[in-house]
Amino acid sequence: LQKQSLVEKDRQNVWHHISPYSKESSPMIVEEGKGSWITDHEGNRYLDGMSGLWCVNVGYGREELAQAAYEQVKKMAYTPMTQSHVPAIQLAEKLNEMLDDEYMIFYSNSGSDANEVAFKIARQYHQQNGDTNRYKILSRYRAYHGSSMGALSATGQALRKYKYEPLSSGFLHVAPPDNYRKPEGISVEQYNLQKAKEIEETIIWEQKETIAAVIMEPLITGGGVLIPDPVYVEEVERICKRHGVLLIIDEVICGFGRTGKSFGHKHFNIKPDMITMAKGLTSAYLPLSVTAVRKDIYESFKSNEDNSHFRHVNTFGGNPAACAVALKNIEIMERENLVDRSVELGERLLNGLDELKDYGYVGDIRGVGLIAGIEIVEDKLTKEPGSKERVGKLIADCKDRGLIIGKNGDTVAGYNNILTLSPPLSSTDEDIDFIISVLRKVFSENEA
Ligand code: PMP
Repeated sequence: LQKQSLVEKDRQNVWHHISPYSKESSPMIVEEGKGSWITDHEGNRYLDGMSGLWCVNVGYGREELAQAAYEQVKKMAYTPMTQSHVPAIQLAEKLNEMLDDEYMIFYSNSGSDANEVAFKIARQYHQQNGDTNRYKILSRYRAYHGSSMGALSATGQALRKYKYEPLSSGFLHVAPPDNYRKPEGISVEQYNLQKAKEIEETIIWEQKETIAAVIMEPLITGGGVLIPDPVYVEEVERICKRHGVLLIIDEVICGFGRTGKSFGHKHFNIKPDMITMAKGLTSAYLPLSVTAVRKDIYESFKSNEDNSHFRHVNTFGGNPAACAVALKNIEIMERENLVDRSVELGERLLNGLDELKDYGYVGDIRGVGLIAGIEIVEDKLTKEPGSKERVGKLIADCKDRGLIIGKNGDTVAGYNNILTLSPPLSSTDEDIDFIISVLRKVFSENEA
């Protein structure tokens, strides 16, 4: 009875993110987590194959992280970042060690916050340099950069936006490379260079003196696991430099080992002007985000002139307990070599999934580090995106067998046909084998 009433109370009082309850579905009320597994209020256990999008990279139930938060709250629970505190200083130093010592660390709470900060810094930076008309932010379709008005404006997914317009002005989008759907008769490298060229053309057509920054993830995660060829990202950086445009790299999902490097941009030979990071900082245990800003950009904010202040205050940003948890989280990642594990487990996963390619409705399987996407199609030749029903059934069947996976894709075109897999980086080999075995069973049962 008590358990039933929990569902009822939730239904009556909690407005959930994205979707309200449908008549048929009852909410999953999660009570506990350990490693890669979560348990709901009815005692059902699931492997959380989606946790990577929330970046619970070190897995659930880490005593050490709870302890770090407890100790810090007891000692000093709150200090605004107009002042400073020891965990914030230590964490900034640690991040700089990971980023090769080139950045100043600005703290906020969420990925959306961190991107908003980056946009404001980009605009003010150009103004201070006398470039008073550089305000436009260029991003890609299919990318997700957050839910607050600026970050939503940078997001390139129509379904998330169209009921909330008008959004912030000065945000532009171009298409990202989608190597699975590239035109025939052109190499992946040529196609990626062409896509980078489209960014340059947009900058020129918009009048380059109006463009403040380009923002992009190292790979588009939430929009369908779109992994670019390195020439793309490196060419985009050259284009930005050529036209005086700042390059912001959104590491909110890719940062902290997800792609098999400490940061996703380290797959490429680039030095971003700003780097935003969030949930992976604390493995999502507590809210914290960072906008890392190149020191030479920071220099132009440093004079004592009142008009050079960066006017942005965030009450909870850089919360001491969150910073203490982030430090401990990074320590765990290093101690357990989770970046290397990301590569090993990712290879194990992709090898295990390889045989699914033979199913008529599997168009593509791709991944890097421990994030993978399975693109479901109706027809391998035409690449018609998998129907909502087909994708929904595969996800529901996985859940029935104890595996939670997600879906994403191209909401601009209105389809969500890419199954997404991103279990914790602390997963065991057996966890990965469980994911593979569930997917093999579910795919074979849905052979038609
Ligand atoms: N950028 C990316 C790439 C994200 O995936 C997200 C969150 N899913 C955000 C930004 C926004 O982060 P938050 O939800 O913490 O505001």
